[in-house]
Amino acid sequence: MLKIILLGAPGAGKGTQGELISKKYNFPKISTGDILREAVKNGTELGLKAKAKMDAGELVDDEIILGIIKERISREDCQRGFILDGFPRNINQAEEFEKIGIEGKELVLYFDISDEEIIKRLSSRRVCSKCGAIYSLLISPPKKEGICDKCGGKLIQREDDTPEVIKKRLEVYKAQTFPLIEFYKKQGSLRKINAEGDIEEIFASVCDIIGQYL
Ligand code: AMP
Repeated sequence: MLKIILLGAPGAGKGTQGELISKKYNFPKISTGDILREAVKNGTELGLKAKAKMDAGELVDDEIILGIIKERISREDCQRGFILDGFPRNINQAEEFEKIGIEGKELVLYFDISDEEIIKRLSSRRVCSKCGAIYSLLISPPKKEGICDKCGGKLIQREDDTPEVIKKRLEVYKAQTFPLIEFYKKQGSLRKINAEGDIEEIFASVCDIIGQYL
């Protein structure tokens, strides 16, 4: 069992690298943000509870998030391992996750990136409204403008990738999520990755590290 936690600011590349890891090593990628966005889209009770916080760039209540995580990691496809993208987001979530007591190795990949680069990336990010594939108009544009290469779906800008909400999300990241770096450093499970290179280069460093854990 390998628990891979992707840590880093919004826009650091967790989703993109998580997809690549998931394909290569066949671990499911669990993105709490994707699960919440899907719930909002479908208008479920969870979606209704989460929407206001997400629109404001704030964190959704820990209790709700922990419920999602516990249910998801208990499924069959997580038995060999899994990749967490966007969880934990604060110390309480990390502690509660530990309390679940899943046996196995833990690897925390910390994607290090400057504020300047984050703002550039988030404002140029587009996602597929159908399959969730991630594009960057700067780094990895789609072949045809506005259309997903993978499924032909329409590309949209995430509602929280607007300048005001980006600012708020960065504040929340610094205040609540950044302390997790120290938390996992102390535990000896943190590995830092320079997240400013190109996608393939970064993925090569990621694979080097994962290889040491398999
Ligand atoms: P993300 O796609 O990871 O950037 O998440 C989008 C939004 O979903 C965040 O700004 C939060 O409002 C919410 N969210 C996602 N993951 C979490 C989490 N682990 N804890 C609290 N809120 C979360």
